[in-house]
Amino acid sequence: MTDNENLRTPIVCVMGHVDHGKTTLLDRIRGSSVAAGEAGAITQHIGATEVMIDSIIERSGASGMKNNFIVPGLLFIDTPGHHAFTSLRSRGGALADLAVVIVDINEGFMPQTKESLQILKRFKTPFVVVANKIDRIHGWQPHENASFLETYNKQSERVRADLDNKFYEIVGELYNSGFNSERYDRVSDFQRNIGIIPISAVTGEGIPDLLMVLLGLAQKFLESNLHYNASGPGEGTILEVKEEKGLGTTIDIILYDGTLKKGDTIIVGSLGEPIQTKVRALLKPNPMGEISAEEKFQNVESVTAAIGVKISAPNLDDALSGATVRAANPENLETIVKEVQEELEEVQISTGTIGVTLKADTIGSLEALVNELQKEDIPIRKAEVGDISQRDIIEVSAIEDPFNAVLIGFNVKMLPDAKEKAKGADLKIFQNDVIYRLIDDYKDWVKEKKE
Ligand code: GDP
Ligand code: MG
Repeated sequence: MTDNENLRTPIVCVMGHVDHGKTTLLDRIRGSSVAAGEAGAITQHIGATEVMIDSIIERSGASGMKNNFIVPGLLFIDTPGHHAFTSLRSRGGALADLAVVIVDINEGFMPQTKESLQILKRFKTPFVVVANKIDRIHGWQPHENASFLETYNKQSERVRADLDNKFYEIVGELYNSGFNSERYDRVSDFQRNIGIIPISAVTGEGIPDLLMVLLGLAQKFLESNLHYNASGPGEGTILEVKEEKGLGTTIDIILYDGTLKKGDTIIVGSLGEPIQTKVRALLKPNPMGEISAEEKFQNVESVTAAIGVKISAPNLDDALSGATVRAANPENLETIVKEVQEELEEVQISTGTIGVTLKADTIGSLEALVNELQKEDIPIRKAEVGDISQRDIIEVSAIEDPFNAVLIGFNVKMLPDAKEKAKGADLKIFQNDVIYRLIDDYKDWVKEKKE
């Protein structure tokens, strides 16, 4: 027997362009296990889905390999909407131990695909690529839940050639992004080559292969990172700040280290000073519930990493997506407050000198935006989390140099009074939910203006 007592579940983030199949893939991973009657094979968390090792091995038909794996399973983060970056962030770098970049094989690379790759590169997160929607290839004969090679070998020659062509376009795009890649079954060294797995999130074809490759990666590259201190203080990342009926403002977190208990004092990253509060309730989804708000959650005494959980506590209104949550005791409280604060200050720039002004929806996305602008040598005056406010418009339009009277908003809204103020104000505003579009638009504008 292998000793997996002290290895936590690897955290896996699914990233990719909108509509390429993130949600469908997770639904399929969840759904087919439920359908197969594998009680206990899947646990639904807040903001995440856990697939147990036995279920993965069962599904891939490799039951003889059971003892070869020492991780307990895989915890997939259900990235809310566009917030891929938020969920990827943690103290010390990346929250996700592993990532899956999903690409629609018929559509190929899109802006958010490239963006996902840039972020993974920066965090040095091991990942695989899935070429999704193979069932859409003209003439495809589906074989529910089959392994990729099994279904591939049953297709006609023309269909296989079509898949191969589309597949190699993805290989080419990955190469342009700085990655060597190959079909997963031809990769011998996953550190040198990115494995690509053709799948269909709808028919389940290729999903057993995906799960096995992820387990293999976790095993090979992460073992030393997955050791954790189950009895240590809880530490996690905020995925979402959510208003919940009867509970007020709650935070959905991924706990990546230690144990968090009801009544624990926690330090929560916020827009201002870190919040100091006490855990009132730890909530997990109630598998039977979902009918009324009261029945939606199951109240638990404590949780241990890695897990997705909702925290109900006083004063969470200003909590910040992507920021850290840490349990503290009277001895280390001051230190932890300071560390949480410093971590946020590192990202939120307020130099007061010259440059453009940035607003982003989460601390993680702001960090990504700051990083990309710095790479392009674009000076930044101020970088903050939050929607574009009236104050932002007033501040930025007061800047004399037109190249710095620029407001760049990533994944944020313009508040109504800001919209009013912006009319006729002397500034340039860029808004988008793709970083590269923002940077390109900005650069094009600068070029045009200089001519
Ligand atoms: P997300 O935005 O990345 O979460 O994408 P979704 O999972 O919402 O998928 C977008 C659309 O593509 C939905 O209509 C899905 O039903 C469809 N879709 C996703 N995966 C597949 C697939 O493998 N095959 C087919 N035919 N459709 C898919
Ligand atoms: Mg989705």
